[in-house]
Amino acid sequence: MNIPMVDLQGQYRKLKTEIDSEIQKVLDSSTYINGPAVNEFAADLAKYLGVKHVIPCANGTDALQVAMMALDLKPGDEVITTTFTFIATAEVIALLGLTPVLVDVLEDTMNIDPAALRKAITPKTKAIVPVHLFGQCANMDEIMAIAEEHNLYVIEDNAQAIGANYTFKNGTVKKAGTIGHIGCTSFFPSKNLGAYGDGGAIFTNDDKMAEQMRVVVNHGMKVRYYHDYVGINSRLDSIQAAILKVKLPHLDDFAKARNYAANYYNTAFASCEKIITPITADFTDHVFHQYTLVLNQVDREGLQKHLSDKGISNAVYYPVPLHQQKAYRDERYQDGAFPVAEKLAANVMSLPIHTELTDEQLKFITDAVLEFVNK
Ligand SMILES: *Cc1c(COP(=O)(O)O)cnc(C)c1O
Repeated sequence: MNIPMVDLQGQYRKLKTEIDSEIQKVLDSSTYINGPAVNEFAADLAKYLGVKHVIPCANGTDALQVAMMALDLKPGDEVITTTFTFIATAEVIALLGLTPVLVDVLEDTMNIDPAALRKAITPKTKAIVPVHLFGQCANMDEIMAIAEEHNLYVIEDNAQAIGANYTFKNGTVKKAGTIGHIGCTSFFPSKNLGAYGDGGAIFTNDDKMAEQMRVVVNHGMKVRYYHDYVGINSRLDSIQAAILKVKLPHLDDFAKARNYAANYYNTAFASCEKIITPITADFTDHVFHQYTLVLNQVDREGLQKHLSDKGISNAVYYPVPLHQQKAYRDERYQDGAFPVAEKLAANVMSLPIHTELTDEQLKFITDAVLEFVNK
C-alpha cells in the first residue's frame, strides 16, 4: 500500500467532469484575472459562511498580511498569537514591523490558552490572532471577551478550520473565521477547501475594513492609477476560483469523510494508553484538517520509520514551536518558556486524513501503529 497524507487525485477524479468544464469555461473566455468566476466564488463563499464580505487573495499568508495592513497598526504595536502554529501566522506580524507576542497553548486542544493570552496583554497590544489549529476552533467566547475588555482586534487564522461551526455559550452558532473582526483562510491544495494552486480569502462583516482590504490587495488603489496607500498585489486567479466554486458545495461532505476517518482512528486507539487521541472542545466541531495524536512514551522516530516502511505517510505538525525557530529567536522567550507547546512539539504525530480513505486503508494504518506501539 501507499497511503498519502492527502489524496488529491482521488478527490479530483470524483469531481473531474464538473471541474474540467469550469476550467474550460475560463479558458474559452480568457478572463484569467478577476473573471466572473472570482466574484461568483466569493459570493458563494460569503453565503456559505454567513458573512457580509469575502475578499479573495493570492494565498493564506497574504490574507493575514492584508488583514493587518488594513488596520491602524504601527510598527512596535504588539500582536498576540500562539507559539504552536504554522510560521505564516507570526511571519506577517514580523514582516510588517509589528511585534509578535507568543503565548502557550492548552494541552488538550492544542489551541491558544486564553488565560496565557490575558496575561500577555500590555498597553502596546493591538490585536490577537487565534489559530483554529488542525480543524477545531479556539475558545472564541473567552478570546472575544478579552478583546472587548481591552479594545483589541481579533484576526482569526482560519486556514485549517474552514467549515467548522462554533457554538457560543448563549447558543449562537457561527462559522469559524466569521467571529472576530477579520477571518483569513488558505486554499492551498491540501487544505480542506483546496485549489489546484495557491489561493486565499479574507472575511469580515465590517464594511469599512472590507473596503480598506479591497484597496490593499489592489496596490493601494481606489481609482485606477491613483494610489492612496501602499498596498500589495494579491489576487485569486479565475481558474482557481472556478475550481473552488465546484468544490465548495462539497465542503460539508468533505468534513464528514474526514470525521469518519478520525472516528475510526479514535475507536482503534481508544484502549491504548500510549496514544492520546485528539480531543474536541464542546464549543466547536472539528473538520480534521489534520488528525494529530500525542504519543505517550513512544519512540516517535521509530514509529515514523515503521509506518513509512509500510508505505504509510506521516508527519509532525509542528516539530519546533515558533519561539524556538532560528529566525524568531528572541531574548523574551528562552527554552522552557512555553512548556506545553514544547512538550507537544516533541510528542505529536499526524496520520493520513483526507476525503478518500477506505476502511481497508484505515485498518492497515491503525494495525501498523498498534503493532509498533504495543511491541
Ligand atoms: C496553510 C496555513 C497558512 C498559510 O496559507 P498559505 O496559503 O500557504 O499561504 C497560514 N496559517 C496556517 C495555520 C496554515 O495552516
